Amino acid sequence: MSKPELLIVGGGPAGMSAAIEAASHGVRCCIVDEGRELGGQIYRDAHAIEREASPDLINPRGDELRKQLAALTNLIEVRSDSMIWGISDGNKVAVGKEASGTEFITPAAMIMATGAYEYIPPFPGWTLPGVMTPGSAQILAKNLNVMPGNRIVVAGTGPLLYVVASQLVQKGINVVAVLEATQRRDWLKVPFAGWQAWELLKEGFGYLRVLRRAGVPVYYGRIVTHAEGDAELSHIYHAPVDKNWFPDRDKEECLEVDTLCIGYGLQSRNYLAQLAGCKIEFDELGGGWVLQRDKRLRTSQPNIYAAGDGAGVAGSKIAELEGRLAGLDVAASLGHIDAEKLQQKNKPLQRELERFSSLKNTFARLTRIRPGLTELVDTDTIVCRCEEVRWKEAKEAIEHGGHDFRTLKVMTRLGMGMCQARFCWPPMARIVAQYKGCDISEVGPVRPRPPIRPVRLDVIAEAQSNQTQETE
Ligand SMILES: Cc1cc2nc3c(=O)[nH]c(=O)nc-3n(C[C@H](O)[C@H](O)[C@H](O)COP(=O)(O)OP(=O)(O)OC[C@H]3O[C@@H](n4cnc5c(N)ncnc54)[C@H](O)[C@@H]3O)c2cc1C
Repeated sequence: MSKPELLIVGGGPAGMSAAIEAASHGVRCCIVDEGRELGGQIYRDAHAIEREASPDLINPRGDELRKQLAALTNLIEVRSDSMIWGISDGNKVAVGKEASGTEFITPAAMIMATGAYEYIPPFPGWTLPGVMTPGSAQILAKNLNVMPGNRIVVAGTGPLLYVVASQLVQKGINVVAVLEATQRRDWLKVPFAGWQAWELLKEGFGYLRVLRRAGVPVYYGRIVTHAEGDAELSHIYHAPVDKNWFPDRDKEECLEVDTLCIGYGLQSRNYLAQLAGCKIEFDELGGGWVLQRDKRLRTSQPNIYAAGDGAGVAGSKIAELEGRLAGLDVAASLGHIDAEKLQQKNKPLQRELERFSSLKNTFARLTRIRPGLTELVDTDTIVCRCEEVRWKEAKEAIEHGGHDFRTLKVMTRLGMGMCQARFCWPPMARIVAQYKGCDISEVGPVRPRPPIRPVRLDVIAEAQSNQTQETE
C-alpha cells in the first residue's frame, strides 16, 4: 500500500473501529499494535488451541471487528507485533519491529487509541510471588490456558474484578472471595443510573450470577491491607473500610490463599501522545492524567485525535464509538467526505455515546481512588518495583526537597526501571501529594521521553542511521 494518510496507534476496539470507519470512506490507514493480533485488551485474540480450551470466554465482537477490517485490506495496512517507541517533530513516528528494525512514518493525521493500564497501589506484601493484577490472571487463564493459582482472592474495585473472577470460576479455579472496596449500597445505584446501557448491565448481572452459582462470596466495603508469605504468598489480611477507604484495623481478617489478583481500576496510557506534544490534565473520574480533547476528539496538537481508554477510561463500547467518530472526522478533514455527510453520520453515534455515558460516569464515581488506599504503605514497603525503592527512601527524599517525579527520580531512582514509571508513579503521585498535603497537580505527571518502552539498541541505532541518511 502507498503511504498511509492516517496512522492509528493501537488495535483495540477504538483503533479497529477508527480504521474501519475511515477506510470505508476511502482513507488509506495503517494500524500499529504491539500485540501479535489486533483486538486490544478485551478482544485479544487467542491461539487456536486456547480458543478450543476456553470457547465460552472468547468475545465474538473481536472476531466481527477483525472480519470487517479484513474486508478493507486494500485500504488498511495492519502492522502487528510492532511498537511505536517515539514521535518527533509532531508527526514523525518511529515504528519498531524486532528483526526488521525501525521505520519512520509521517502521516497526515493520527489517532491515538493506546488503551489503559491497571492501577496497582503499593501495600505491604504486594511484591510477593502470587500477587498479580486481575488482567494478568485473565491473560493466563483465558488466553494462555494457564491456571494462575489454586486458592484465589480477587480484590480491589471496578467491573473488571467480576469479569475476571467469573472467568476464573468458569475455568474451574477455586475463587475464595471477591473483595470490593466500594460499599454495597453504592453499587446498588448502578442499575438505576445505567438502565439505558441495559446490555452492559445484563452482562454484569451475568458475571454475578456465575459467582453466586459457584458459591463465591462478594464482600463489599473491604480492602486488602497486607499480604504475607515466606518465599511466596500464603495469607492476605483484609478489613472493612469507611467511605474514604480507611480500614478499620481492629476488624482485620485473614485468608489463606496462594494467589491474590488485585487492581483498583484503570489509568489512561498516553505517554506517546505526550511525546507528540498533546496536552494532558488531571481528571479524577477519567483515570488520572488524561489527554485534553475537544468535542471532535482532537487533542491540542493539529491532526492528532485520541479515542478510547487512552484518552480517558470509559470501557470498550465507548472506545468503539469514539474510534468511529474520530475515523469519520479524519475522513472529513482529509476531504473524503463533506461536512453534511459528517454531521449525518455523527448523529446516531453521538446518541449512542450519550446512552452509555451515564453508566460510565456512575462507574467512574464508584471506583475513584480514595485517600485510605494511599496510607497502606509502611516504611519498608517497596514503592517502585523495578528499582526496589522503599517508602522510607522516598519519604526521606520528599523531606529533603523531592517534590515531583523528576526530583524524586533523581534522588531515589524511583521510576527509572523497565516500566518507566507507568506502574509506580500514578499511585506514588497520590501518596506524595497526600504526605505533603498538596494537590496532585502540584506533584505532576511523568514527563515521558523516547523510547517510551524498552527497545533493543540495534533498533534505535538503525533508526539513528536512517534519520541521518534522510537528512543527507
Ligand atoms: C488488562 C485489562 C483487561 C481488561 N479486560 C476486560 C474485560 O475482560 N472485559 C471488559 O469489558 N473490559 C476489559 N478491559 C477494559 C477494556 O479492555 C477497555 O475498556 C477497552 O479495550 C478499551 O479499548 P481501547 O481500544 O481504547 O484500548 P485497548 O483495547 O487497550 O487497546 C489499545 C491497544 O494499543 C496498543 N498500544 C498501546 N501503545 C502502543 C504503542 N506505543 N505501540 C503499539 N501498540 C500500542 C496496545 O497493545 C493495545 O492493543 C480490560 C482492560 C485491561 C487494561
